[in-house]
Amino acid sequence: QSKSEARVDGSTGVTFNDVAGIEVAVEELQELVRYLKDPELFDKMGIKPPHGVLLDGPPGCGKTLVAKAIAGEAGVPFYQMAGPEFVEILVGAGAARIRDLFMRAKVNKPSVIFIDEIDALGARRQGISRESKDHINNAQTQERETTLNQLLVELDGFDTSKGVIFLGATNRMDLLDPALLRPGRFDRKIKVKPPNAKGRLEILKVHARKVKLSDTVDLSSYANNLQGWSGAKLAQLLKEAALIAGRKRYFEEEEKHNTILTEDMDEAVDRLRIGPK
Ligand code: ATP
Repeated sequence: QSKSEARVDGSTGVTFNDVAGIEVAVEELQELVRYLKDPELFDKMGIKPPHGVLLDGPPGCGKTLVAKAIAGEAGVPFYQMAGPEFVEILVGAGAARIRDLFMRAKVNKPSVIFIDEIDALGARRQGISRESKDHINNAQTQERETTLNQLLVELDGFDTSKGVIFLGATNRMDLLDPALLRPGRFDRKIKVKPPNAKGRLEILKVHARKVKLSDTVDLSSYANNLQGWSGAKLAQLLKEAALIAGRKRYFEEEEKHNTILTEDMDEAVDRLRIGPK
């Protein structure tokens, strides 16, 4: 697949069951799912669906996961690209990619478009400085702004493409161009915060479903002690522990050779804290 094409996921297979520990308004997410399942109903009832939803929060806390879960719950295709993929020196390439992305999503509506790291293309416009002799920099700025303008055009044209929801994710909301945050563009914002101890436990439990964990492992003590760990890092912890368990007891003549024990968890924590021995 070429770099310029959105990654399409026919059905992400992700559900709200896979997302844990983030206290986002579930009702708000459910409404998006209901809309994707039956856009005409919203239309008949005169309910205005949201145009765009901005997921804001630090890396690895589940923004992409939430976006995929919305599409997965509704059973609709998911068109994913990252902001930096639109930033090219070639004049007009970014805008063409935006047009292409929206066109494909509209043809296959209902659908979800997701742009991660949207700040890379949606940063505040500065205009081109005439005095500046830095032609490369000027060309890049101009190209980025053309791309952003195209995105605004697409978002404004959403009324004619009922059944498409646009989701963007960023951890630098402060950088975004105010035009993007105006009503009719990103008219909803969902904060995806790093998990607290309770959230960390829920996340560990979600990922423990995918591995074999001994009953003797006390997940809550890890949840309490691993302050500041993101969902991504907690998911990594269980993967790493499963690898360690498998490697250590691979040659043992018993079925349970890859069951994760407390010592494997501790070793995995050390590894993720300081890197491998
Ligand atoms: P980035 O800004 O780096 O793209 P993100 O916020 O989009 O980060 P994700 O890509 O959604 O983070 O998270 C990476 C992986 O970490 C997920 O696929 C999942 O396995 C795990 N993960 C992160 N947050 C959660 C969560 N809240 N619940 C369950 N798993 C999570």
